[in-house]
Amino acid sequence: MAKLPEFNEHTHPTDVIAWALQAHPDILMPSAFNLNGTVLIDLAAQAGYRGEVAFVDTGYHFPETLVTRDRLAERYPELTFVTLKAGQNLPDEGQYITDPDGCCAVRKVAPLQNYLAQKNPSALLNGRSRDQASTRAEIPFVEEGARRRINPLAYWTREQLEAYAQEQELPVNPLYWDGFLSIGCWPCTRAVRPGEDARAGRWAGKGKTECGLWVGEKAL
Ligand code: SF4
Repeated sequence: MAKLPEFNEHTHPTDVIAWALQAHPDILMPSAFNLNGTVLIDLAAQAGYRGEVAFVDTGYHFPETLVTRDRLAERYPELTFVTLKAGQNLPDEGQYITDPDGCCAVRKVAPLQNYLAQKNPSALLNGRSRDQASTRAEIPFVEEGARRRINPLAYWTREQLEAYAQEQELPVNPLYWDGFLSIGCWPCTRAVRPGEDARAGRWAGKGKTECGLWVGEKAL
């Protein structure tokens, strides 16, 4: 693995991305086109990323999310937007109520794992940041593992992300401005209430905070 530069909390995300592109030319970017993901796509394109942006269509996305994907694909023709479909023989419709972990495993994690098994990139670029949730408060710029996970936005606050998106007139998912600060599938997402974490509207009341892409046994 390429040696890490001496990043600190003041390092600009673009510098992290530029290093990542050099150290990992095969890097790939999964995205759900939330505010963080949209900002990351813009910064990465500016820094020279020309790879794929992989989105998993679980079958339960809000129409606004699919429109956001299409608007981003139109705005960044230099990137390749790939939509991965949840597989065949899916469990019944109600699994998101009876077994949300199993539902995410089949509809979300497995399609991305299959995609990564084919592509086998040495690193992933993703948009997670510390202030999204208390469970993400320690995210570093670079997480080591069999495959490095690079988090260029780790230290940016929601206010910084919003300001950047507005300055650059990015096509943010319109649900965001209605309080959906983190947007996943419609059965498992609600608007966030004042004072809550940005991700508090995900799986609210289900005792679940992550889909399994970034934590857990099957994490990317
Ligand atoms: S977020 Fe909800 S509907 Fe989407 S895959 Fe996970 S449990 Fe299923």
